[in-house]
Amino acid sequence: MKFELDTYHRNTPEQELLDDLIRVSKELSKDKVTIDEYNERGKFHSTTLTRRFGNWFDTLKKAGLEKTRNLNLTDEDLFGNIENVWIRLGRQPKYNEMLAPLSKYSAGTYEKRYGTWRGALQQFVEYVNKIDEPGATIISETSTGATQRHKTKRDINWRLRFLVMRRDNFKCVACGRSPATNPEVVLHVDHMLAWDKGGETIYENLQVLCSVCNIGKSNLDFREE
Ligand SMILES: [Zn+2]
Repeated sequence: MKFELDTYHRNTPEQELLDDLIRVSKELSKDKVTIDEYNERGKFHSTTLTRRFGNWFDTLKKAGLEKTRNLNLTDEDLFGNIENVWIRLGRQPKYNEMLAPLSKYSAGTYEKRYGTWRGALQQFVEYVNKIDEPGATIISETSTGATQRHKTKRDINWRLRFLVMRRDNFKCVACGRSPATNPEVVLHVDHMLAWDKGGETIYENLQVLCSVCNIGKSNLDFREE
């Protein structure tokens, strides 16, 4: 254990503390660094980090490092997280951008599963491009009791959502706002011809709208009815 004066590292920038923790995790080649492991190899004392970031788990999270439970993650979880980060950035995420709070899992988690970060991105793209087979005709009832036939479900799976987002440049097609430039913007994928009115859940009938424009659109639809 190191002896350290309480105030000594008070002015060390957050990123420097986190970078040192990440360095130790790389040295050990593992995602989870214990307090003892850090105190043995770290430039600072673990209490300097916990005083800054809360408990040790919060510190690991802040550095984009996670607990071992992440080894049980499915491809769907890992790719879904890439999708979220990609949408928030409005472009392909870089290795060193896979950090909390933007990303739930570190680039290291992806390397462990897919070899390299590049490999993870390639697998992600392949996964997204898998096209669902057209299903059987779905017969459903509308709110007015009429019968409708659809070839697709109303729900938009995240792979299709991602393809539509990419085509629309991760921006609202109505007002042009995007989370990349305005973190408060939330994007939705919307049926141009409403599903209730016979619109299908297909690439050509979907568009990106922000939550504000999407609400505006529903109101218009309502008035039309
Ligand atoms: Zn908008």
